[in-house]
Amino acid sequence: MSESILSLRGLKKSFGPTEIIRGVDLDLRQGERHALIGPNGAGKSTVFHLISGNLKPTAGDILFQGKRINSLSPQAVNRLGLARSFQITNLFPKLTVFENLRLAVMRSHGLQYCFWRFIDLNQRVRDQTERLLEQVRLQAKAQMMAAELSYSEQRSLEIAMTLALDPQLILLDEPMAGMSNDETAYTAELICELTRGRTLFIVEHDMQVVFSISDRISVLVYGQVIATGTPDEIRDNAAVKEAYLGEEVAA
Ligand code: ADP
Ligand code: MG
Repeated sequence: MSESILSLRGLKKSFGPTEIIRGVDLDLRQGERHALIGPNGAGKSTVFHLISGNLKPTAGDILFQGKRINSLSPQAVNRLGLARSFQITNLFPKLTVFENLRLAVMRSHGLQYCFWRFIDLNQRVRDQTERLLEQVRLQAKAQMMAAELSYSEQRSLEIAMTLALDPQLILLDEPMAGMSNDETAYTAELICELTRGRTLFIVEHDMQVVFSISDRISVLVYGQVIATGTPDEIRDNAAVKEAYLGEEVAA
């Protein structure tokens, strides 16, 4: 068994008096694609916010590559090599696709305010931006405004922006939400391609996608992980069927 890249230990989160995450233990193995599934309101997005540093745990620990990251800012977590998908609202609709991506690349070099260093690194930034555009197959759209992209192309652009920092672990929260079947299939393939050699932690509702791309799946119900296993193990797990999957997957 390969070593863990991320470990959650007794993780808890309360909002006011309500405990939403109720003691989560979970290990992600280096290089695996791991899906987190569960009913609406189970706490999946909250777990991701805790990992990315956007929320602080009430109790427990988050270890990334053996380092405790509970108290780090989202920026500090990001710099360690843990990226989460940007929301569409992070795209600048009136900048071109190229300019949006270049901003993410500049940010990854810590260049947001330093004009003179940027001049030095200009060519490197351009090259890296072009490489990423190619990886998400948006070269032909480089000069279009982000707002003119289709929905799935916008998501592709966001994924490229997530990759700018060359992260070891990528968190994607429902990347296929709102997509047609064709867009979903395309994006699933793209995600597999882009995350090769990295670790992926993904929340997704589309069970066909989840069961086809995941090495392992964890099921979160009411703030607790009730099962972790391979797609086959999860499909056959009685508690999972009862709590969540029901006949949908048994069929
Ligand atoms: P999921 O992503 O699994 O659908 P969430 O993590 O978004 O679930 O939410 C889990 C529960 O926590 C929900 O009941 C939600 O209303 C509640 N919750 C999420 N964020 C907050 C917050 N900032 N303040 C209060 N309650 C919240
Ligand atoms: Mg959610």
